[in-house]
Amino acid sequence: MSTKPLIVITGASSGFGAKAAQLFNSKGYPMLLLARRIEKIEELPLNFENVMIEQVDVVNKEAFRQAISKAEAIYGSTDLLVNNAGVMLLGNIMSQEETEWETMLQTNVLGVLNGMKAVLSQMTKRNHGTIINVSSIAGFKAFTDHTAYVASKFGVHGLTETIRQEVADSNVRISLISPGAAETELLSHVTNQQSHADYIAWKESMGGLTLDPEKVAEAIAFIYEMPQEVTIREITIAATKQQ
Ligand code: NDP
Repeated sequence: MSTKPLIVITGASSGFGAKAAQLFNSKGYPMLLLARRIEKIEELPLNFENVMIEQVDVVNKEAFRQAISKAEAIYGSTDLLVNNAGVMLLGNIMSQEETEWETMLQTNVLGVLNGMKAVLSQMTKRNHGTIINVSSIAGFKAFTDHTAYVASKFGVHGLTETIRQEVADSNVRISLISPGAAETELLSHVTNQQSHADYIAWKESMGGLTLDPEKVAEAIAFIYEMPQEVTIREITIAATKQQ
């Protein structure tokens, strides 16, 4: 059994979450990895000795809470929660299906709140713990056809700063990471063909040099590995050529 504390990562089946899982796994942390497609987590190149995998939709707060309780019964209290699961469904709100707005707001905002609620009471009791919420540059800057996504990520910025202030006295750290465009599965879920094509054209305008997801994982580890009395409140990380 590892002597290191438990790390929980949502959206560990691909992209930033999968890279963060690989990085913390290589450092020997026990982990609870969450996603809906758990078979994709099982295919990651991990040492599975101290890894628990649970199929959890982050919108389902009870399933989220139960998975964390199950892991904590084995590995002890969660010391880091990486609230990373998210979806980006681009489109103009005049034509976009409202169900796509709901999916983004539920996953990107309620999912983050559900995760924080599941771990914050034990963290504030222990006076120890870290939550890193994955937002986006779209959390402080507008982009065409991103209306509901931008709304969700501005929401993540606002709720993160609010909770940070609320729990600062108990020594619990709340951090935000705002990545720029990166090569992950994120764009593949966009149903609007024009928005999809526009996004690819925008990425190509950067010479195709988007952010390496491993660098986001490294930034997450940097935030966590600072001493507990130091909070990196926010990191914005993007490809150098992104405007
Ligand atoms: P991916 O699509 O590669 O990964 C998204 C992850 O979220 C998957 O593991 C997916 O797992 C999980 N997920 C989505 N919905 C749910 C849900 N309801 N319940 C549980 N898990 C869910 O994208 P990224 O790695 O790029 O995205 C990670 C985060 O980074 C997101 O919050 C995104 O908004 C943010 N981001 C991404 C950028 C980019 O350019 N890639 C830029 C800025 C921010 P599964 O489908 O198996 O459930």
